[in-house]
Amino acid sequence: MKPLTEQDIRNSFINCSKGEAKRLSLPRDLDERPWDDLDFLGWRDPGAPDRSYLVTERDARPVGVTLRFPSSQRGFLHRSMCSLCLTTHSGGGVSLMTARKAGTAGREGNSVGLYMCTDLACSLYVRGKKIPEPGGRFEESLTLEEQIARTTGNLTAFLDKLYA
Ligand SMILES: [Zn+2]
Repeated sequence: MKPLTEQDIRNSFINCSKGEAKRLSLPRDLDERPWDDLDFLGWRDPGAPDRSYLVTERDARPVGVTLRFPSSQRGFLHRSMCSLCLTTHSGGGVSLMTARKAGTAGREGNSVGLYMCTDLACSLYVRGKKIPEPGGRFEESLTLEEQIARTTGNLTAFLDKLYA
């Protein structure tokens, strides 16, 4: 994706108030993020451990989503699969994140859940730039481009649900 500035990111959020978007913590290393290898930028909020954020591109514009995840999760030994990049992790490596919907539906308290890599590094797992624990990626018959397309397709489907 194209590198984003702090202002791009703050203006991109679709499911929180403008005030919230202005205050939330952004990564300090935006200049050093591996943008060429990212389908989305994801980060955890150092000041609010139950919050993460992701920003991706949709129709050539940045779209940001605020996510919450439970601070204590059951079933830590259990392996689960990320529904975006299909990597499996154990020990809390996958979390059920929830995103408030955009617009009126969100203000009325509606949200959408998504199982996702807790470290939000899906783009890097797909490209083999970050290696999960053994068995975390299964043998794929798809090419890398097809796997990337599948991941961005899964992300688009999730964004569609936020607007629904
Ligand atoms: Zn993932």
